[in-house]
Amino acid sequence: MAYVITQLCTRAGNCVEVCPVDCIVPGPQGKADWPYFYIDPGTCINCGACMAVCPVDAIFPSEEEVPAEYAGDIELNRRFFTEGPGYRDFDLEKERVRA
Ligand code: SF4
Ligand code: SF4
Repeated sequence: MAYVITQLCTRAGNCVEVCPVDCIVPGPQGKADWPYFYIDPGTCINCGACMAVCPVDAIFPSEEEVPAEYAGDIELNRRFFTEGPGYRDFDLEKERVRA
């Protein structure tokens, strides 16, 4: 089980700052395919730090707790890392969008 970021994400970026295993990566800006941030389910250690700082409650603590309307985001998080774009170096200040 891993935490899951859903399409409620507004790219605030707070989660990236607190993740102890650096498994949250922003999708490329301007690309409609990957508009928000993603958690690598293979690396997440379920600490809950990200969920505590998300200003829009976009993160859910397990696949079972993701609301049905956002169920597709479970697979999107996985595919982001298994098929790409996946991990990359990024400047958080350039990637985040503060509401
Ligand atoms: S803190 Fe919430 S809104 Fe901000 S990037 Fe993370 S999941 Fe998205
Ligand atoms: S639950 Fe912890 S390890 Fe998993 S993505 Fe959130 S901050 Fe990172």
